[in-house]
Amino acid sequence: MKNAHRPGTLYIVATPIGNLEDISARALHTLETVSLIACEDTRHSRKLLSRFQISTPLTSYYREKEQYKAGILINKLQEGQDIALISDAGTPGISDPGAILVRQARAAGIAVIPIPGPSALAAALSAAGLEENGFFFGGFPPAKKGLRCKLFQGLAALPFPLVFYESPHRIKSCLQDCLSTFGERQALLFRELTKIHEQCLDGPLSQLLEQVKNGVRGELVLIIQADINAPADKPDNLDHLLAWYRQQPGMKLKKAVQLIAADLDLPRTQVYRAALETWHRDDQESDSDESS
Ligand code: SAM
Repeated sequence: MKNAHRPGTLYIVATPIGNLEDISARALHTLETVSLIACEDTRHSRKLLSRFQISTPLTSYYREKEQYKAGILINKLQEGQDIALISDAGTPGISDPGAILVRQARAAGIAVIPIPGPSALAAALSAAGLEENGFFFGGFPPAKKGLRCKLFQGLAALPFPLVFYESPHRIKSCLQDCLSTFGERQALLFRELTKIHEQCLDGPLSQLLEQVKNGVRGELVLIIQADINAPADKPDNLDHLLAWYRQQPGMKLKKAVQLIAADLDLPRTQVYRAALETWHRDDQESDSDESS
């Protein structure tokens, strides 16, 4: 019998994103041995468990009830029960519920152990052939066009590939907004990863848009390549950025202030004050260089 004063452990278990053979031995062992499995949809997860003859009880834990259910699960963990959290597919907490329970568990001193495994994000990245050292993952872009375009505008200058999950019914408008914001960049659209109809469309954004214009089915991951014309040496502190923008052909002080404020998430007034000094100091230095 467990010591009543010793809390149980919360396991965050990744499950397949299509191909059931992708489940790990450790995930199966954990799902078999915990007292309870929290999942988004009990009917959906029961199919996965019966495929592996696992009879551990299930309880639902989904986005709309996260706060409420987290409290109940924390009580059980504090009583000493071990609990596994899974989602419908892939890794919980990545565009899936989990964050509230994990945070509450940590705050209560409960051990949180990830059991890593499939994720559409990692699967797509691994097969994309990207050379950059990093990437930006945006989950699902906002459904509203205005918010989506605003997000894309904020990301346009990033020197990294941009990765998004997207639904089949929104992919066309998403690609249209990508094209109008980022221009003609290379992109990859992964569809139905690890499943029978797995496919990857690879080409300029306009070509992908053409290919999905009559509709597309299945689950999708979109990767937009970084702007190959974007300078890789863009600095990341205020003084250096000011000097860097100052050197860009045709750059005006007002525009630089606007861009730097967005780059560094600083108030424009603060950037403007610093810009006035740098711009004038540089002008004076170059004037005196020329006159000497
Ligand atoms: N937590 C999951 C993970 O780690 O991949 C993602 C959950 S999110 C609610 C579901 C989205 O992930 C789908 O709409 C799709 O964009 C992407 N996705 C999941 N499975 C996929 C697959 N087999 N192929 C392509 N994309 C997939």
